[in-house]
Amino acid sequence: MRRVAASLVPPWLEPLLTTSFFSVCSLHSDAARNERNMFCLDCGGAGVGAFCIYCRSDCHSGHRVIQIRRSSYHDVVRVAEIQKVLDIGGVQTYVINSARVLFLNERPQPRPPGKGRLPHVRDLRPSPARSLPLLLPRL
Ligand SMILES: [Zn+2]
Ligand SMILES: [Zn+2]
Repeated sequence: MRRVAASLVPPWLEPLLTTSFFSVCSLHSDAARNERNMFCLDCGGAGVGAFCIYCRSDCHSGHRVIQIRRSSYHDVVRVAEIQKVLDIGGVQTYVINSARVLFLNERPQPRPPGKGRLPHVRDLRPSPARSLPLLLPRL
């Protein structure tokens, strides 16, 4: 199985995969869109977890922020966003609501015995050839 050297793994990857999303933001509990479904690639390695869209404009403007989406109780991220910062070649993607997405954690489905494990986000390495544009520059 392919294993990526720890030094190649961006510091935000493990926090991204272990953060739980979609709880209500305690700072913005009165706001309309206060679910914490954002993750900052610039701050995520420093222990900043999920935050809401208002936190984003308060604290993370100009940062590389990705938006987590939810599909059937699984956290997914759009391929269009994550592929800017990770080389996701070889990883299983799915089309959900006409958008190609990647499951942040492995989809709990039985695999045929003997086929082994498909490469997953955790196995990925960043693509140094790609620039790191701002994600989701709107707002
Ligand atoms: Zn907030
Ligand atoms: Zn940030």
